[in-house]
Amino acid sequence: MPHNIFPPRPVSGTAIAIALAVQATLRETAEISGLGLHTGTRVNIRLVPAPPATGLVFRRTDLNNFQIEASTRHVAKLSYATTLMKRGVLVSTVEHLLSALYGLRVDNLYIELDSIELPIIDGSALEFVRLIEEAGLEYQPAGRQMLRVLKPVEVRRGEKWIGIYPDDAFTVEYEIEFEHPAIGRQRLELEITPESYRQEIAPARTFGFYQEAQALLRSGLIRGGSLENAIVLDSTGVLNDHLRFPDEFVRHKILDLIGDLSLLGAQLLGRVRAFRAGHALHAALIARLLKEPDAYRIEREEAGARLKA
Ligand SMILES: [Zn+2]
Repeated sequence: MPHNIFPPRPVSGTAIAIALAVQATLRETAEISGLGLHTGTRVNIRLVPAPPATGLVFRRTDLNNFQIEASTRHVAKLSYATTLMKRGVLVSTVEHLLSALYGLRVDNLYIELDSIELPIIDGSALEFVRLIEEAGLEYQPAGRQMLRVLKPVEVRRGEKWIGIYPDDAFTVEYEIEFEHPAIGRQRLELEITPESYRQEIAPARTFGFYQEAQALLRSGLIRGGSLENAIVLDSTGVLNDHLRFPDEFVRHKILDLIGDLSLLGAQLLGRVRAFRAGHALHAALIARLLKEPDAYRIEREEAGARLKA
């Protein structure tokens, strides 16, 4: 186990620069249980610290610790959730936990689960953030891998579109438009840092329409769905007591986008702009970016140099 080099909450500018430059895992193992949104099955999760350059790796403990790396090459299905598959073995609804790990910049971790689907908890990433912060971050003596966008890449499908552009920070501009009185047009622009992720994005819950719920149930989906783990809308308003933000809907879309971007396996230096996008369009953008070698560059921070500075 790598020793702890830095305190968990850096305060000085130099310490923050180092925390951004080196890889991180959790300081200790953390556990959480809950129900899968689609399967309705109970699942136990253990987040286990991993050595540098491991990445985020799922382990199905019910299948001999079969490993599925959180990578674009294992993306299998994108309807209503992101599912990873390797040699026929699935792990589904991965995007909220991956979002929390990417948002808080945890690079290396084994994610053990004893069933097919991650727990939905309250439909947001809040409990995952609490879990990560309780365990604490352990900084590791290895440079963090960054993916720098060098030129614009865009994907359009009718009115929906998404693009990625050069930027020195990880920034998101997201806009949604639903013909529904509780949603309408919502737009948010945000630089994604661990602090902004925790405050502005992690609490935003997933949402669904009551009218669509019966059809989803007939297709074997959302068996674990309830007002406890999603914002549910009928034709006129929200069935839950209250919203956590007036624009909670667009914030959750950003939460999902961050989870999908985690599959890049490197911290993004670029600006994503999305209009009425979703998991399928997020994945299409990532696939197109990675197919254009001159559109991005992988950079590795020099941990040694930064440590001495
Ligand atoms: Zn979601």
